[in-house]
Amino acid sequence: RTAYVNGEYLPLDQARVPVMDRGFLFADGIYEVAAVLGGRLVDNAGHLARLARSLSEIGIDNPHTVEEWVRIETDLVARNELAEGLVYLQVTRGVAERDFSFPAAGTPATVVAFTQAKTITNNPLAETGAKVVTVPDLRWKRRDIKSVALLAQVLAKQAASEAGAAEAFMVEDGAITEGSSSTAFIVTRDGTIVTRPLSNALLPGITRRAVIALATEFGLRLQERLFSVEELHGAAEAFYTSASAFVMPVVSVDGRTLGDGRPGAVARRLRELYFTFAESRD
Ligand code: PLP
Repeated sequence: RTAYVNGEYLPLDQARVPVMDRGFLFADGIYEVAAVLGGRLVDNAGHLARLARSLSEIGIDNPHTVEEWVRIETDLVARNELAEGLVYLQVTRGVAERDFSFPAAGTPATVVAFTQAKTITNNPLAETGAKVVTVPDLRWKRRDIKSVALLAQVLAKQAASEAGAAEAFMVEDGAITEGSSSTAFIVTRDGTIVTRPLSNALLPGITRRAVIALATEFGLRLQERLFSVEELHGAAEAFYTSASAFVMPVVSVDGRTLGDGRPGAVARRLRELYFTFAESRD
């Protein structure tokens, strides 16, 4: 595999970042992940806009223009002959003597990128539906920033794995914030799709935005509001969205079966609609 580090393409196993990189010492950095389908980036403009915003929110100068980012991404897709999978981008505040305060102005950011092959179209999990568990949301108060500080999400996902589940939905004040690496949705018994409104409490999912637009366009009822763990347990359906999972139906929550235990009609429809959208949008 070929990776990208600060302007150079090199074999992934030779890609290196210094120990004094602030990403390593402080998790002082931002990342972004976009899907690749049929060799093309999916909704990439949205991902690059969120990258720019996250960098700006923590005071890192965006090291590249949109055109430069797209060039890095498409070069990596080509060099890795990636048909289906993900492109990962990371920008940190660079290499400096260890000190919490920002390094001197002009310290170059560290830019790293690589691809991961992944089955998105024929993901067997989408056929059976995913199990999820709920866990406390242990994160900081600026979850709208796509920070590389992911310890709470690592622990949440590990709790899911240990429970035989694919994803953990995180809970704060009795309400679901989002998945450990996804946006959470339910479908109520009267057929309304519900997801939490955007705020500092969750990441503005790029897939979330597209799914909301598709639901609206195709006349599905949708509300952006908080929903509780109890509402999730009693929902007709649930699903989660992300660049890597697209729309993933949920069939069990905390060991309780949702509906008839198979992917729900609304989730399956949105998954189809999202694939059609993804094939046409880069
Ligand atoms: N929420 C969190 C915490 C995430 O980590 C992710 C993606 O990794 C998402 C939501 C989904 O965002 P997107 O649809 O842009 O991939």
